[in-house]
Amino acid sequence: MNVLRRIRDYLNTLHGRILLGGLAIHALLIPMLFVGVIYLVKGGFESTFVDRARADAQILATLIETTESTDVITKLYDQVMASKRYVYLDLVTESQHSADEDFKEDTYFGQHGDNTYFITIPLKWELGHTENLLLRLGYDETPIMEKIHYTKVLCFYLAGAYVILVFVASGLFTPLITRPMRELQLKAREIAAGNYDDHFDIKNSRIQEIVSLTNDFEKMRQELVGHNKELEYQSLHDALTKLPNRVLLQDRLNQAIYTAQREDSQLALLMIDLDGFKTVNDTLGHHYGDMLLKQVASRIQGVLRKSDTIARFGGDEFCVILPTISNMRYATEIAGKLTECLEQPFIFENQPFNVGMSIGIAIYPKHGLDAPVLMRHADVAMYIAKNNNLDYTVYDPSQDKNSISRLSLMWDLRHAINHGELHLDYQPIMDFRTGTVLAAEALVRWNHPRRGLIMPNEFITLTEQANLIKPLTTWVFEEAARDCSQWLKQGYDLSVSVNLSSRSLHDKQHPKRLMRIIEEHGLPPDRLIVELTEGAIISDPVSAREILEGFHEIGVTLAIDDFGTGYSSLSALKKLPLQIIKIDNSFIMEMLANRDDMVIVRSTIDLAHNMGLKVVGEGVVNRQIWEELKGLDCDMAQGFHIGRPMSAPRLLHWIDNMDNREVV
Ligand code: C2E
Ligand code: MG
Ligand code: MG
Repeated sequence: MNVLRRIRDYLNTLHGRILLGGLAIHALLIPMLFVGVIYLVKGGFESTFVDRARADAQILATLIETTESTDVITKLYDQVMASKRYVYLDLVTESQHSADEDFKEDTYFGQHGDNTYFITIPLKWELGHTENLLLRLGYDETPIMEKIHYTKVLCFYLAGAYVILVFVASGLFTPLITRPMRELQLKAREIAAGNYDDHFDIKNSRIQEIVSLTNDFEKMRQELVGHNKELEYQSLHDALTKLPNRVLLQDRLNQAIYTAQREDSQLALLMIDLDGFKTVNDTLGHHYGDMLLKQVASRIQGVLRKSDTIARFGGDEFCVILPTISNMRYATEIAGKLTECLEQPFIFENQPFNVGMSIGIAIYPKHGLDAPVLMRHADVAMYIAKNNNLDYTVYDPSQDKNSISRLSLMWDLRHAINHGELHLDYQPIMDFRTGTVLAAEALVRWNHPRRGLIMPNEFITLTEQANLIKPLTTWVFEEAARDCSQWLKQGYDLSVSVNLSSRSLHDKQHPKRLMRIIEEHGLPPDRLIVELTEGAIISDPVSAREILEGFHEIGVTLAIDDFGTGYSSLSALKKLPLQIIKIDNSFIMEMLANRDDMVIVRSTIDLAHNMGLKVVGEGVVNRQIWEELKGLDCDMAQGFHIGRPMSAPRLLHWIDNMDNREVV
């Protein structure tokens, strides 16, 4: 079995195939060739024999005809028979010949299978006979037959020898092709294993095809080396500034830490965040934003030594490693020089733009022994610098623990959005008149892997500071739109309310993005209520109006949230395309005890109705408040008395079982 498999495997190699092919061709050609040779040789022998026999017989006939005495003829007969060229000879009359059935004249060699070639020749010699005489001769065919047989045997041996020769020659010459092919194969395998450095160079082969195949492989290898270098460069560098990216930074930082460990020296890590970059990006667009980042990168490079590393950390953040510093002062001096290098304004479209930077400094080994700790501490220091309007801060572990924990939370938040740590709860909003649930407010929660459930008040501001509000808001909108369209499909007549951060007012693309989300989930736009706090509207009325109009155009419902806390008058909000007002918890919860709050609530409801707006009372914590608000003609209620925020499936279950509950 094993042997058979080996033979089969061998025949599947190039060597085996060439050998097999050569043999197959010759096995077909050689018999044809030798059969042809035998046929020609046999034909030649036979025709020569027949011609000679006939000529010979004719001569004998002439001799007999010219002889006059029977004695002479008898003598001639004896002589002829003694010559052994004839096996048969006689003279008969025509009638004797006709009566003799045994004598069969041959017209070609080997006829009648009697090994004798019989000829009849009529004689023009009467010798006293009344009838014509016939000379009958028989020639022995056996010697010719033996010759033909010998030729056949010879051809057979020649053919055998030829096949063996072909076999041996193929066996000897095939390696000339297969050896270089095998070498190529081994080299290709090395490349597949990632060793690109060896050149493709096949020695001792002058076969054109193999030489050009080798050249092609070599060209491919060189291209691969080029592509690999390019890929490696791209994976380790920022495409815009060509600076090392986060990955390479981490690697360099680790290397620098090893060196500092070995040499017992210090190193500094500087985390840099630009101030004012957003203005350039928002006013002039991304093109100028990119140009600014490139110019900042080259100015920073101008301050540093060749041995220092500067990396783009992402967005408008850069990171610098100063390896082996003698003391902390050196790091702060460099930080000072870095802020100085941005003092000259950047000129775009003939306008000067001033950009600053906030730098956080962490020193190895004082502020951390490994890369993640150092980076986190440099980041903390950077946010402290930013919040206090300082050019730079050196990390200080004695700083307010709370702010450090807040800042480290901010660090974690970057990962939370993409790692499924967020979820939405929904709080029902109920119609006072009918007691049915009209909508649910989406409220985000963060399931922190170590700290447990974190409520939005603890991280929304952080999200804004960390510039993560856009991905967070997009995520909330996506989830809420998906859930609400699902509810509608399941037959629940509900709208969904979503909170918009004040930071999102500057994001002009928001309405467009929201439109895409709504369309993607097939949600009727008016089923989505966008809530913007009164505080946000007052802090930037121009942007608020612009973005609210953008939302209004796409047909979503707009609500002003936490109304009353911003001390604005409702009439000031008249020009905005609003449909709903949500009176803040604090007024509603206190209205029964505090007369002023009651006045505010009542007048807000009246005024809102005059302006054609619906009113939601937030913070309906008990039945008395429910009754009071209903008496004031408030439209909708939201609060713990009606229902606490809950997961989407629980909300539906809650709605299904509403009849058994006493709310109203
Ligand atoms: P909000 O928009 O005013 O939401 C209502 C808040 O009041 C919710 O707190 C809710 O649980 C709470 N609440 C509702 N009824 C009662 C009640 O009867 N008594 C009391 N004591 N509280 C009640 P939560 O979920 O902690 O949210 C707090 C704030 O965080 C929200 O205030 C909103 O401004 C913000 N927020 C929540 N989710 C998001 C979000 O996805 N994006 C943004 N930008 N902000 C969000
Ligand atoms: Mg709200
Ligand atoms: Mg509110």
